[in-house]
Amino acid sequence: MSGLYRLSTPRAFTRTSMTPMTRPMLMATCLLAPCVLAAAPAIAQAASDPQRDPARTEVWKPIPSMVATPRDAAPSDAVVLFDGKDLSAWEGEQGGEAGWAVADGAFTVVPGSKGIRTKQRFCDIQLHVEWRTPAETRGFDGQQRGNSGIFLQEVYELQVLDSYENPTYPNGQAASIYKQAIPLVNASRAPGQWQVYDIIWKAPRFSDGGGLVSPARITVLHNGVLVQNDIVVSGKTEYIGAPSYPPHGCAPIYLQDHDARVSFRNIWVREL
Ligand code: MG
Repeated sequence: MSGLYRLSTPRAFTRTSMTPMTRPMLMATCLLAPCVLAAAPAIAQAASDPQRDPARTEVWKPIPSMVATPRDAAPSDAVVLFDGKDLSAWEGEQGGEAGWAVADGAFTVVPGSKGIRTKQRFCDIQLHVEWRTPAETRGFDGQQRGNSGIFLQEVYELQVLDSYENPTYPNGQAASIYKQAIPLVNASRAPGQWQVYDIIWKAPRFSDGGGLVSPARITVLHNGVLVQNDIVVSGKTEYIGAPSYPPHGCAPIYLQDHDARVSFRNIWVREL
């Protein structure tokens, strides 16, 4: 019986889409009228018309590989860059051990110790980072309050800053692409609270001669809110002057020491 529904008038009677006429309504209608006989020409037409075969638009390959997504843990195909225990995936910006302090499942900038970077190099990635600026803010305003940064490929900064009731130039506040792109909204939590960046990064491409073929692009969610939507990056983020695009290959993720005791935890990356 159900096969008859599908063949007679697919839009109205298919088993997966019973609106606007529900299956009980249809059965009642058929009991009250000789509908099967009346629909016979339509059944024959649908059966003979290959263009109306729903299987024509089904794509069966490739089959996406399974990725486990445990709650509060990295996806099964991610590279874990910090699991709360040590900085073995990181090194100092000038080589040697990463000199930041690990405690209570997080690590914290040691001001003056310089930045740290991943030992592994990355190009296109999905990156998850949790960060926290100091709860104590007295005496620190603007760019001096909880400043750090996540640098994709070492030279493109996604700003980390306490931007909760802390005015600064918007293209330098939290979740800005530093001095290039103002975030769509300010999704900052209060100082002392953990915050989350989820980043989609598409690396720039360069020709063999070093010319720019395609610029970098970035999408960022700040605490689950979209703040950078497929933004074209203009080049290296600079404190002074205009950005530029010296050619480079895959490169480490770099975290900035900007004299603030910013903490990080639960960092993982998926190569795309
Ligand atoms: Mg910074």
